Parts: sequence; structure tokens; C-alpha cells
Amino acid sequence: MTIGADLQDGDGHAPSASSGASAESMLALSPASSAGRINLFGLDRQGLRAAFEAMGESGYRADQVMLWIYRRGVDDFAAMSNIGKALRQRMAERFVIRPPELVTEQVSADGTRKWVLKLDQTEGKPETAIETVYIPETNRGTLCISSQAGCAMDCSFCSTAQGGFSRNMTTAEIVAQVWFAAKTLGSDFQNERVISNVVFMGMGEPLANYANVVSAIRILLDDFGFGLSKRRVTVSTSGLVPFMDRLAGDVDTALAVSLHAPNDALRNELVPINRKYPVAELMDACRRYLDGKDRKTHIVFEYVMLDGVNDSPELARELARLIGGLSAKVNLIPFNPFPQARYKRSRPETIAKFSEVLRSRGVLTTTRRTRGDDIDAACGQLVGKVQSRQKQRLGDIPVRVQ
Ligand code: SAH
Repeated sequence: MTIGADLQDGDGHAPSASSGASAESMLALSPASSAGRINLFGLDRQGLRAAFEAMGESGYRADQVMLWIYRRGVDDFAAMSNIGKALRQRMAERFVIRPPELVTEQVSADGTRKWVLKLDQTEGKPETAIETVYIPETNRGTLCISSQAGCAMDCSFCSTAQGGFSRNMTTAEIVAQVWFAAKTLGSDFQNERVISNVVFMGMGEPLANYANVVSAIRILLDDFGFGLSKRRVTVSTSGLVPFMDRLAGDVDTALAVSLHAPNDALRNELVPINRKYPVAELMDACRRYLDGKDRKTHIVFEYVMLDGVNDSPELARELARLIGGLSAKVNLIPFNPFPQARYKRSRPETIAKFSEVLRSRGVLTTTRRTRGDDIDAACGQLVGKVQSRQKQRLGDIPVRVQ
């Protein structure tokens, strides 16, 4: 089964480099090419090499250019001093290094920052914006990035779901969030790493935009790209089983699974994709995922704490039984409210009890500290500016077997 095969490139966006498209066809298709130029944030090393080779240039130029962009923070070809002037000029005719346009910036009392960023506009379509959140901590800086404008998963406790699905983000749009944030935060892109961790926990279901997300991850991990460590890039999924299998073979990152309930009756209600990939199948996929990994690898199960819904000690015991034997951790997320939400956050003592039941059964459990809620930047509060008139949601989206 695939969701995403139909969503993928559904708006005529550039196929990612990994999908094997030639640089020329990318040029023809790319929405970033309003002036006929490819936005380089969208090409991983393989794609950029191919683009240079298509120009009759040596592929190693890709390495040089990526170092300028991702290790020096340069977005101007003229500054790339180890590349001859003539080639720089040819590059400027074909390529552009274009960060997203800032719509608004908000800074929380706790230092969390939220940016609303405009996406590339497709002619005739409404303007779309997404949200990116930076969470500073004592010894790390986490950037929470979006992978889709809106979301079709329709989880009942998530505000992104309310606006429906607008479109997949391109690889360029996904990657440019990280570059933009680093630049805005004053990173020198070299020594001091302002952004040490990247999590796909912003708007959207990353595995429903599979090819673009994988290409973006390659750029995040590449030594010529952002050079992030594989344990510091986390893909969070609501449980698109076939893509979890593919992910394991394609890139090495940390995986988080939004479980939220230990049985089908409850999970069907909270995470509707469960009707397609029920808990037992999801657990099998988690086991297959871990099978191919070293023993240090964990899956993090996210579990939103909803008052009186999924927070009883009985459910904690059921959860412990379900994931017992897996190399896993549980991350309890106190529910973050939003207008029209039909849930309340569990009380602190209920969360503490739930956590204690899990721990007493040997399950590594942490409780996520709520950050940035005063600026609606906390988990599940991101809405962006998704003008989806159709309110496309799960069920409306063609799903086909691959
Ligand atoms: N689509 C991805 C990323 C979602 S956001 C996924 O489902 O994993 C990251 C986490 O925040 C997910 O676990 C999501 O279920 C959770 N979340 C969503 N809405 C929330 C809310 N209102 N309060 C707390 N957590 C929420």
C-alpha cells in the first residue's frame, strides 16, 4: 500500500533527485524555477552531481557548492571563490539558492521561536505557508520542521489536521527551513552548531511525502551538507507501515512512532490511519525496522496524554505489554490545547502515575516538557496558513498498492 505515491509530486513539483529524474526534466518541472532556475536546496549530492554533469562539468563541483551552501551559509554564487568566474556565471543562469520568505517570527517566553514561512507559489493556487519551530535547550538546539502544508492524517487531537491537507513540500522547501533557521539564529555554519537536532515533527506526515523527505534527510546527514549525526535526525510517523519498511533501507535516522493508544479500538479513534495499518501490523513494522539496526537503536513511541481518554493505569499496563521486548522508549506528550479541541490535558499526577506504571515494567519513559505553548508552537499546535478549500483528508486521498 502506498499513500504518497499519488500525493507525490501531485502538484507538479520537482521529483527528488533520488527518483532518477534528469537535471533537465527537473528544470522543466520545478516550481522553484519561476525564472527557469533550480533551487539548489532541493538537490542532494547525487542530484547536484547529475546537474553539473548535464552541464558538461565535473561532478565534484557538487561537493564544492554544497560546502559553500551548508558549511559556510553562502547563498550567492559570486562568493564561491574556488569556482572560476565563467562557471559561476553559468551556475547563476541555471540555479538559484533561495531561502523561504519569512511571514512572521514569534519568540516564546522560554526562548522557543516559531517562524511562519511562505512556500513557493504555484500559479493559480492560493498562497501557502508552513511553520518551523526552534527549541533551544542547555546542551542542544532542536529544529522542528514541516514536511507538508497541512496534513491528511486527521488525528483527532492535532490542530494541523483541522485545516486539512494542502500539498507536499518539495525537497527544497523542506531543507531550506534548516538553512533559514541556522542563518536567522546567527550560526556560522561551521564550528558552533546552533541546530544540533532536526525532528520531522512540524506540520505534515513525513512518510506521506516520502521521496522528498528522504532526499532532504540525505542533505541533512551528508558531510557536504549539514553533516548532522544520524541519531540527531528524527522522522516521526503516524504509522505508514510500507514506508517505514522503505525508510529502513533508504536512510539511517532515528524513528519516532505516534502510537497514542495500545489497542485498535482507541487508536482508530485517535489516529485514523490505524484503520489501514492496525496496531499489530504497526508493531511488526517496528520489529522489522529494528531488525536491520544495531542494538543501540531505539524506536521512540510518542503518546499524547489526553485526560480521561488514553491515560489510565490499565492502558499503561496494556502499552507495556504491547511494546515489551522491543528496543523502545516511550515519550509522553502532555496534550497541547487549541481552539475547538475536544480534549483536555491529563493532570500532572495522572501523567506521573502512567509513567510510573511503564517504568515499573521496565519501559524507558520520559515526559516531554511543553515548550513554546504561549506562541502556539508546541506539538500539535502548528497550523501555518493552509488554504485548503477542499479539506482533503485521509479517505479522500487515493491510496494504491505499489
Ligand atoms: N505526522 C507526524 C508528526 C506529527 S507532530 C506524526 O504523526 O508522528 C509530532 C507529535 O506531536 C506526534 O506524535 C503527534 O501525534 C503529536 N501531537 C499532535 N497534536 C498534538 C497535541 N495537540 N498535543 C500534543 N501532541 C500532539
